[in-house]
Amino acid sequence: MAETLDKRNFIFADSTVTPVGTMYCIGKNYALHAAEMGDDKPRAEPLVFLKPPAAYLPHGSVLTLPFDQGDVHHEVEMVVVIGRDAENVSAESAARFIAGYAVGIDITLRDVQREAKNNGWPWARAKAFAGSAPISQIVPAYALDGGRGDFDLELFVNGYLRQSGNTRDMTHSVNELIAWLSGIFTLRRGDCIFTGTPHGVGSISPGDKLEARLGSVAHLAIEVEATAP
Ligand code: ZN
Repeated sequence: MAETLDKRNFIFADSTVTPVGTMYCIGKNYALHAAEMGDDKPRAEPLVFLKPPAAYLPHGSVLTLPFDQGDVHHEVEMVVVIGRDAENVSAESAARFIAGYAVGIDITLRDVQREAKNNGWPWARAKAFAGSAPISQIVPAYALDGGRGDFDLELFVNGYLRQSGNTRDMTHSVNELIAWLSGIFTLRRGDCIFTGTPHGVGSISPGDKLEARLGSVAHLAIEVEATAP
């Protein structure tokens, strides 16, 4: 039952628990996705928006969505969880601040986002609502030593592959993102970074079963339902 799942803490594969903090989400960090969103310009600086802790939804949850507000899109992303406070750290030292890796889905109300873009409004209503950030169990960084780096990212809807990419194609690397974010916001233990989605984003419907994978190390499954009319 979804109600019994812990919606306040990241659960690590070694049973460590960390309260969920601020989520920093990077937009257009894969060139092919930027292009499918109509943006072909190379991006010198990352594009960032935030989700609050209540956006978190754990593996195995049912995600209740407002399908009366237009298209709802999936964006599969590698998620990096911060393990130590990081203020003005360099890219060279950034790896020391990573607690673990996961796979997440940046759930997006695409029509609401389009309206916001057209009007110059913030994206919060389109991107940061409750449940908009399903995230898998966290793989501790130490468990990946030597193997961290490039991961295949996949998203299946009802068993059909809808998104497939590899984290090596990110415009800004994890270490660069940590350095950049830590210089602006200061990262805290329990914060996480959604590192951007590869191409292939598309709409989901009530009743869909979503499954996301980060290589062979992280797996996320959720079910989608519509809010009661
Ligand atoms: Zn995204």
